[in-house]
Amino acid sequence: MVERLDCAVIGAGVVGLAVARALARDGRDVVVLEAADAIGTETSSRNSEVIHAGIYYATGSLKARLCVAGKAMLYAYCAERGLGHARCGKLIVATSGDQTDELAALKRQADANGVHDLAALTPAEVARLEPEVRCVAALHSPSTGIVDSHGLMLALQGDAEERGAMLAFAAPVERGIADGGRVRLVVGGAAPMELDCALAVNCAGLHAPGLARRIGGIPAASIPPAHLARGCYFTLTGRSPFARLVYPMPEPGGLGVHITLDLAGQARFGPDVEWIDRIDYAVDSRRAERFYASIRRYWPGLPDGALQPGYSGIRPKISGPGEPARDFVIAGPEAHGVPGWIALYGIESPGLTSSLAIGAAVARIAAAA
Ligand SMILES: Cc1cc2nc3c(=O)[nH]c(=O)nc-3n(C[C@H](O)[C@H](O)[C@H](O)COP(=O)(O)OP(=O)(O)OC[C@H]3O[C@@H](n4cnc5c(N)ncnc54)[C@H](O)[C@@H]3O)c2cc1C
Repeated sequence: MVERLDCAVIGAGVVGLAVARALARDGRDVVVLEAADAIGTETSSRNSEVIHAGIYYATGSLKARLCVAGKAMLYAYCAERGLGHARCGKLIVATSGDQTDELAALKRQADANGVHDLAALTPAEVARLEPEVRCVAALHSPSTGIVDSHGLMLALQGDAEERGAMLAFAAPVERGIADGGRVRLVVGGAAPMELDCALAVNCAGLHAPGLARRIGGIPAASIPPAHLARGCYFTLTGRSPFARLVYPMPEPGGLGVHITLDLAGQARFGPDVEWIDRIDYAVDSRRAERFYASIRRYWPGLPDGALQPGYSGIRPKISGPGEPARDFVIAGPEAHGVPGWIALYGIESPGLTSSLAIGAAVARIAAAA
């Protein structure tokens, strides 16, 4: 039997949950289909939990706009819902003279993105804030923070359910067809079903391009390639000597091996960038060697043996190694010509920060369709 429904959101990561909440708040009937047996088991629980300021991204890009808007929405939501977070600030450090032009360019990029609160610091000013950090120049970003990502997802789920949304776990969408203005989805798992939806939103993260290719009627040209870039973390044994996040200059594919803190004050380092061809979260302890070298450029006091293999996350990239980084893709009928289908691709960092703004953007597309 085919069941008719209004909206299906595929994926219960932070983005799918934010989309479900936004659609449910607009009065839509929403079912979230999640392949795993819990929320947030993939990228949303394998990241740095940083609330990004919106510094690095190309001006006018979705990453820049949704990060800046999402940051404000996220701080307000955390305050309203009593979610664990801290506006701890971050330093971006240049460790050699040849990086100072790049640092100045980051300040200009931030300004162009509407992030006007960055302050340039001298090494002496940095030493007053973070005595262990060595650099030749730095920027301080006071609006960068950290958030309890699981608490955030639980709150989004709660809001969506309060507005009538339903979550189905162990419900992998296997394939489907977009036809006649509706999308029919074939769902496997323990309770297989077929759903005929007025709207289907693809929030499947790493799997989003692959899933789209299994939905008949979606133009192949509208589906980007999927590339995977693993980022490994190492944790610091013992107390963190830092009160703020500390980032080196960005590197191709990522933001450089930086120090982040969790809400308990535990420090972790990462993520590095490693292009892989299948999903594999193993952290190779031999990568520690490179971590020591990168971190000691700005923290020479890192003791030998202080790093322990932590966890890894995989960036859902839609551009490959050596290619220019691509923007988030949030594609509705106007972009691909298929009514009833909204697809999100390449929602890598700053996707957590942007999640509430992404939810609002999808709800706007849905309302206009
Ligand atoms: C190493 C790393 C560090 C990061 N750090 C930050 C950071 O500090 N700050 C920040 O803002 N962002 C950060 N990000 C980005 C952020 O984590 C992601 O943008 C965000 O978590 C993406 O959420 P999502 O819901 O799109 O994907 P996911 O969390 O991966 O959720 C997708 C869901 O879809 C489900 N699914 C997949 N296929 C199907 C199917 N066929 N049927 C049903 N369900 C399906 C999966 O099971 C999964 O639950 C980082 C990312 C990485 C990899």
